[in-house]
Amino acid sequence: MTAPTFTDSAKLTTARSAEIMARARTRFPGGVNSPVRAFGGVGGEPFVVARGEGARIWDVDGNEYIDYVLSWGPLVLGHAPPVVLEALQRVMKNGTSFGIPTGLEVELADRIAQRMPHLEMMRFVSSGTEAAMSIARLARAVTGRDHLLKFDGCYHGHADSFLVKAGSGVATLGLPNSPGVPDALAELTLTCAYNDLEAVERIARQVPLAAILIEPIVGNSGYIEPLPGFMEGLRRIADETGALLVFDEVMTGFRIAFGGARERFGVTPDLTALGKVIGGGLPVAAYGGRRELMERVAPTGPVYQAGTLSGNPLAMAGGLATLGALTQDVHDGITAQTARLVQGMRDMAARHGVPFSASHSGSMWGFFFREDTVTNFDEAKTADTELFKRFFHAARARGVYLAPSAFEAGFMSAAHGDAEIDATLDRLDSALGAALNTSASRN
Ligand SMILES: *Cc1c(COP(=O)(O)O)cnc(C)c1O
Repeated sequence: MTAPTFTDSAKLTTARSAEIMARARTRFPGGVNSPVRAFGGVGGEPFVVARGEGARIWDVDGNEYIDYVLSWGPLVLGHAPPVVLEALQRVMKNGTSFGIPTGLEVELADRIAQRMPHLEMMRFVSSGTEAAMSIARLARAVTGRDHLLKFDGCYHGHADSFLVKAGSGVATLGLPNSPGVPDALAELTLTCAYNDLEAVERIARQVPLAAILIEPIVGNSGYIEPLPGFMEGLRRIADETGALLVFDEVMTGFRIAFGGARERFGVTPDLTALGKVIGGGLPVAAYGGRRELMERVAPTGPVYQAGTLSGNPLAMAGGLATLGALTQDVHDGITAQTARLVQGMRDMAARHGVPFSASHSGSMWGFFFREDTVTNFDEAKTADTELFKRFFHAARARGVYLAPSAFEAGFMSAAHGDAEIDATLDRLDSALGAALNTSASRN
């Protein structure tokens, strides 16, 4: 393990990051190409990354961090894993994209279907947004219905139909979360609180739904698990009312269990969205499900969906190498390290006497500064986010990079060994002490 250079002083050099971000702000809205990177959730100046290796990243100022964001989930083997780099080098010598079928697409699809046999057929796309948006279209076409039901706090990418928030935990007509989404479209997306099966039942019996979409474990409003029986209840309600059940496994897929949510909960969805891990850091996502549903997609069916770079060999190689290396043993190892981290953080919070809850499933994890387990987004919002912000900055200053928002999940990789976990827990303990001693005005 490399000795941290700034753990004791808990100070960072930031000059080059600041200079690049100043230029970036003249070129990109907020200086970033995806909003959460701007650190709006924690305040302060984002750092600019120079490189990553294994569990670590280094910024352009030379600061080193143990990384628990991992590109927001894809990097299940850690940064720059040799097995992926070698595969990319091998494949790109022959060209990076053709817009013509290649064998690698079939290989990656086979590998996914081995672990998720309910994806009898699939279609590769380039982002989770595309996968979820294509599923909405397919579900509407298959059922002949227009309404979707999603859960407050679940993120399914930024397509118009999904940028809709709930009205205080009860069924409401959707209100757009973003200007530019027509009310006429947002009205077709209904929302209710995560884990509120009664609300789902009421809505599904009132309104003919094309689909019920869910993050099987939520990662986009903090880490939230379904209560026992919730997934089974969704399956029953979908079956009884003719809605399709859609698992958005863009984040959970190949993380919460070796075979994803179906294996974890014993509930099989009609359609599934995948992304993140299946590209191993390259732009790959997919949607799939039962053959008779997927055959409705063009060109076998009338539901149009296409992509110039979809399934390109370079991206497929990244996914293949990643899933190939992610054996059951490797998955179990990452899960064990995640359990160690989560338990260590619980112990840390107990030592400091801070209200805290933390949990994990496989290699996806999260925590709230709140005593009781969080079961929906409204509860998540009652956690101490001011303490989180101070904790985030103190952790960063000590060389641990946590997601820059109280409402994002954390991840673990195969490159996080005992040394990294021990160092992380040491640094986080010190960070929590500092966060508790700092006045909120610091931020
Ligand atoms: C990340 C994410 C998406 C969007 O994927 P992009 O590749 O960022 O478009 C969709 N759904 C879930 C559950 C996600 O976590």
